Amino acid sequence: MRANFDKRTAWLATPCILALLACTAAARAMQLPTRETVVITDVTVVDVEGGHSTGPRTVLVDDGRIVSIEAPQDAHIPSSAQRVDGHGRFLIPGLVDMHVHLFNLSSHRPPNDWSFPLYVANGITGVREMRGDAPSMVLVNRWRKALEGGELIAPRILAAGISVHGSSPDDAAHQVDAAADAGADFIKVFSDVPASNWRAILAAAHGRSLPVVGHVPAGVPLLVAAAAGQRSNEHLMQAYEACSSIEAQLLQQRRDIDGDALTERRDTQEARTLNAFDPAICRGIARSLVVTGQVQVPTPVLADEDSMGKSGSPGTDPRRQFLRADERMRWQRFVASYTAQDAALAKLRWPIAHQIVSFMHQAGVPIMAGTDSPMPGVYPGFALHEEMELLVESGLTPREALYSATLEPARFLGIADTSGSVAVGKRADLVLLDADPTRDIHNARRINAVLLDGRLLRRADIDALLKQAASVQAP
Ligand SMILES: [Zn+2]
Repeated sequence: MRANFDKRTAWLATPCILALLACTAAARAMQLPTRETVVITDVTVVDVEGGHSTGPRTVLVDDGRIVSIEAPQDAHIPSSAQRVDGHGRFLIPGLVDMHVHLFNLSSHRPPNDWSFPLYVANGITGVREMRGDAPSMVLVNRWRKALEGGELIAPRILAAGISVHGSSPDDAAHQVDAAADAGADFIKVFSDVPASNWRAILAAAHGRSLPVVGHVPAGVPLLVAAAAGQRSNEHLMQAYEACSSIEAQLLQQRRDIDGDALTERRDTQEARTLNAFDPAICRGIARSLVVTGQVQVPTPVLADEDSMGKSGSPGTDPRRQFLRADERMRWQRFVASYTAQDAALAKLRWPIAHQIVSFMHQAGVPIMAGTDSPMPGVYPGFALHEEMELLVESGLTPREALYSATLEPARFLGIADTSGSVAVGKRADLVLLDADPTRDIHNARRINAVLLDGRLLRRADIDALLKQAASVQAP
């Protein structure tokens, strides 16, 4: 399979082989377009940070970069440029999903390259891959090169990390070194990491200049983890405890246990944790969190899917056609194992998640959009739009929701000089919308064109890409 990754048909290679279909001819039709000079005329440029949009503007893109943004009367348009009519349209930076899974390490299934066209079709030009291992890093680098070479229609993998647990603090530190040597961009920790190993991971990662991100472990208080330098926290892990009136008691009952026993203890405590939610305490936690600089990736879309039981009816969702067969089966198994108790807990959790995000946002805690795609019910690409809509429901303005999916991730990753906004000199990862997303975040779904690494995909190309993605998965 890996031998195929250098071909133009890379994202189709796995399903083609699995299905033993001769779909190479169709795949060739879906090559990434060549990088040309592109001019978007009379467009309104959305500033995701400054609070105002400017227009009309002529935006010139060449060799994968934005080379000028000018008033129409001042613009010089090369005759060779491909023209895109931006009149009445809105230009935003390419969207970023800060929590995706491209590998299936536990289940030993092939990587989720089937999801690549879905991200691009939804305007997602960058992702943070959340759980790889050393061989995954090799594949990530091949994908990066293939995108760069125009051989692969895929979002840019802005960062990819390796998860470390460790059998002891020493072992955890050694694993961090091995991950650094393998080229990981960060170390990911999960909830079941013992506090002692987690401290060793932080120290070792600091020594290798690697950020530690992921779930604040179930044995560590949120503020302690944030103050100790865990750079991002996913899914509001330990925030529910911190926002309850019984955090100390809950954590005390988790002492001296680790691994599965630790997360099982946490799960058995969950109803009690949620019932002890205290808004006043939560506001205080949010204010203390700001000082630490820890960034939250709350993934409300995941909590929402859970609470709405939407993943309970995957058979009726038209997007199901895009899922690879093994993924469809995984979702079905998940639904089959979902109990009434799970549903009741999710219903209790959802409004509290909503309030925690709201308090954090009000206090100024940095929030990044992330989805955990492809968790059951969370469709890659599409889900980031749901995520931004849910962030708006939690009190972010539409512009702030866009910021959480563009410039905030770029700043977090240290690439804001080249990404995250529509500005001269930045990479031409852009999305052209038919309506103003700062008026209504739902308008971010109204995609007219995507510039992926300076390569233009018009609406017809995007529709063809989706059609192709579905036909590849057809049984
Ligand atoms: Zn995840």
